[in-house]
Amino acid sequence: MLNFDRPETKFALDMVRQASLLVKQVQADMVSPALTKGDRSPVTVADFASQALIGWGLSETFPERPLVGEEDAADLRQPAGEGTLEQVTRFVSRFIPTTTMDNVCSWIDYGAGEPADRFWTLDPIDGTKGFLRGNQYAVALAMIENGQVQIGVLGCPNLEDGYKPNPKGKGTLAIAVRGEGAWLTSIEGDNQSFAELHVSDTSLGSQARLLRSYESGHTNIGQIDYFAQELAVEVEPVRMDSQAKYIVLAKGKGELYLRLLSSKQPDYKEKIWDQAAGSLIVEEAGGRVSDLHGKRLDFAAGRMLLNNRGILASNSILHDEALIALREINA
Ligand code: AMP
Ligand code: MG
Repeated sequence: MLNFDRPETKFALDMVRQASLLVKQVQADMVSPALTKGDRSPVTVADFASQALIGWGLSETFPERPLVGEEDAADLRQPAGEGTLEQVTRFVSRFIPTTTMDNVCSWIDYGAGEPADRFWTLDPIDGTKGFLRGNQYAVALAMIENGQVQIGVLGCPNLEDGYKPNPKGKGTLAIAVRGEGAWLTSIEGDNQSFAELHVSDTSLGSQARLLRSYESGHTNIGQIDYFAQELAVEVEPVRMDSQAKYIVLAKGKGELYLRLLSSKQPDYKEKIWDQAAGSLIVEEAGGRVSDLHGKRLDFAAGRMLLNNRGILASNSILHDEALIALREINA
């Protein structure tokens, strides 16, 4: 069973569950087919509201431990941000009834912490483009100690059973605690039972299901094709937004997850909040996570993975073969 000995475990799970329910409400209320292309207001509201809710929880419960969040409230504090701030406050007050606009700004800015020996990191909405398309996105919270991810939680409202896209389902909540395994439950419903996650035992490169970003600009499509040829892959890659891909891998519904460098941003450095929770979930499910050269991810280098290049996550068995293929294609 999932071990709740550390108070942080239950807390992280509850916070991500609440924030997932909140952003799902924002999506239901604000994302409509009539939304004009380029209007990012729903994701802006959801991003801020999610960080406010989790910032509130963390500042009340673990005030000694900084939060490194993706967002800050500077824009909301400007006169031009007032309309957005009102909307954010309206959604947050469904969860914290006494909230005010000032509270909301300070809870968001609680996330302006710096990485330390022990800290939390949050992506309040990972996969913002997926959120706007009604596809996959994730609330991602992780606790890092001495450069190692200790707890990782992902909430994916549009994912069912850890791998099926379904915006009408109960959503997926995945949690890993270092040394205690990776576990799956749903966001909605009072079903609190947890199923343990295990990566797939596929050892044939030709059968590897590749997971890749939906957005072509976040990866390198040409190189993914070459990579697939190197491994003689026979199955179509799966295109999916956000860290939901890590859950699919941990659930054994994919074998390889590649984050290759886009030719437009060949020096892109991954942000810690984009990889921390998902990478622990895969490792605790028996998988392996490294960068494209096989180096372990270094979460002690600040807000970004400055000492790494891209990401390769796998079911372990196929990792070395994938690293060789990446070398062959100069990824
Ligand atoms: P995904 O949904 O897998 O495409 O990943 C979404 C994350 O990609 C976002 O949270 C961004 O922080 C990150 N991202 C933004 N630009 C890039 C880029 N050029 N290369 C890789 N990742 C990026
Ligand atoms: Mg993100």
